[in-house]
Amino acid sequence: MLKCRHAVDKADALVDGTPLSRRERLALRFHLLICHHCRRYLRQLRALLGSLPRQEDALDDARTQAILDKLDPPQSH
Ligand SMILES: [Zn+2]
Repeated sequence: MLKCRHAVDKADALVDGTPLSRRERLALRFHLLICHHCRRYLRQLRALLGSLPRQEDALDDARTQAILDKLDPPQSH
């Protein structure tokens, strides 16, 4: 089972343009199904990003960091 901190890391990796394996994406998806903390986090992330581009690496580092700075990470538990 993926822990919240790991789920957030993977969500952040997606935004950073870090490729995730299919297994990692599935693990993240499953975690989001059962964890409203991380769902909320990802919803904030997506809202700030607007429409997340298909090519995640379309975001440059400065913009990604600016977005991440505005986020309120979920409490780890
Ligand atoms: Zn979680």
